[in-house]
Amino acid sequence: MQNSEFIRAASAIVRPENLFTEARDLDAFVNDWRDRYQGRACAVARPGSTDEVVALMRLCAEHGVPVVPQGGNTGLCGAATPDDSGTALVLWLGRMNRIRQLNEVDGCIVVEAGAILQHIQEFTAEQGYFFPMSLGAEGSCQIGGNISTNAGGTAVLRYGPMRDLVLGLEVVLPDGTLCNWLTPLRKNTTGYDLKHLFIGAEGTLGIVTAASLKVFAAPRQRESAMVSFNQIESALSLLTRLRSQLGDRLLSCEIINRAQVQTVLTHMQGPTWPLSEVPPWALIIEVTETLDSYKLRDALEQLLGQALEDGIIDDAVLASSSAQQEALWSVRHNVSEANKRAGYGVTHDTAVPLSSQGIFVGNVERRLGEEFPGGQMLIVGHIGDGNLHVIHLLDAADYPGDALKQAAARINRIVDEETLALGGAISAEHGIGQSNKARLKHSKGNVQIALMKRVKAAFDPECRMNPGKILD
Ligand code: FAD
Repeated sequence: MQNSEFIRAASAIVRPENLFTEARDLDAFVNDWRDRYQGRACAVARPGSTDEVVALMRLCAEHGVPVVPQGGNTGLCGAATPDDSGTALVLWLGRMNRIRQLNEVDGCIVVEAGAILQHIQEFTAEQGYFFPMSLGAEGSCQIGGNISTNAGGTAVLRYGPMRDLVLGLEVVLPDGTLCNWLTPLRKNTTGYDLKHLFIGAEGTLGIVTAASLKVFAAPRQRESAMVSFNQIESALSLLTRLRSQLGDRLLSCEIINRAQVQTVLTHMQGPTWPLSEVPPWALIIEVTETLDSYKLRDALEQLLGQALEDGIIDDAVLASSSAQQEALWSVRHNVSEANKRAGYGVTHDTAVPLSSQGIFVGNVERRLGEEFPGGQMLIVGHIGDGNLHVIHLLDAADYPGDALKQAAARINRIVDEETLALGGAISAEHGIGQSNKARLKHSKGNVQIALMKRVKAAFDPECRMNPGKILD
């Protein structure tokens, strides 16, 4: 039978210990991080080299087998979960985790796709450099997953999203063609820059097997502060001052509302809250500096002191040790885990222009409050780059049967209407996956969707790469 022939050949490529076919071994690879999607797969292959990926992709092409690339499986929209046909091969990149080289002259590091983000951060720090991508799942997400979702995280304000950190890629196409585009070049105007199509493609065009990435000077000073205030407009005034006075020293500016803080404190053991009370809103600010001579702490202290005096903020605390810095971030870093435990969260990943954030929050709060008064509106996000996560938390017991799905669709509709009316995007860093497919159609419009389908057909005419994700 074709399937057993395929399994035998795949097993010969990666060796039997790296090909799983038993249900108990497949479990971790066919469910998503939030337990919202359960799929099935014919097998999971764990290749150890680019050559093995090439051979697997050729084999899949020969047998017409769909392929679902998977990294750390920390994605939040079901993009790495196979559909329930049971025909797909999950291709897990975690064994391809080598750091191939760090080239100081080029300011570039070459890593394999399965390298864990935190390992890349640690390796670059040991070499005296800095890799800025940072997010809550950094201990388990892989750089190939970060690239394929165009991940954001907490340093986008200063360094941009993953797209801005990628210099070159090595990718394997659905038919097994190897494309070695691992350049360290920062300038190249030789026609279409095809690597960009794979960044944020969520595994629908091919497999990312390696990447050349920018590295930066390591900060010698780092200061973190938390401030509280009553309305979101104050956060924007403070952000404007931070940017104009500290410029590129501003690394992160994260916002969190009271309901979100309380959710973390209720559902998680470790996190502590550093201010005397939980205010309507708080910001976590992080600034860094590569020179020893610049008085970073003084500059931040002075700026916050003035903001207090001017009545922009109500309270502020500046961490005075790295342990205190960790403590300041502890609530923020536990948000996703706490929300998963707290109930059924209808989660959004919205970007709206900074100048419209106040209107967005006000309108969404009013409309969700009117239509879903029993729900709780949690807000957390990377306000520095305009990305807010609105999570409307429902008690699933109040919505029996299909009512929960219908409520989620209505909540999505309200948030999307407000987002699009303000020129925003319905997904800023998590991607589309399965969760946001229907919403993509409203947000992109017919012309863009048609062009995206033509790009997909050019790379994957048989639609075998990660079927059922982004586009139908
Ligand atoms: P996976 O979940 O395994 O896969 C994601 C997508 O990429 C899938 O479509 C998959 O098919 C594809 N893919 C994976 N590897 C490859 C490859 N080598 N080649 C081709 N396609 C591939 N995201 C943010 O952007 N910012 C945040 O601040 C953030 N915080 C988070 C906090 C927590 C606690 C959690 C659980 C998640 C968070 N995320 C965040 C979401 C998630 O961590 C990111 O989307 C991350 O980039 C996914 O990486 P991964 O390796 O887990 O990818």
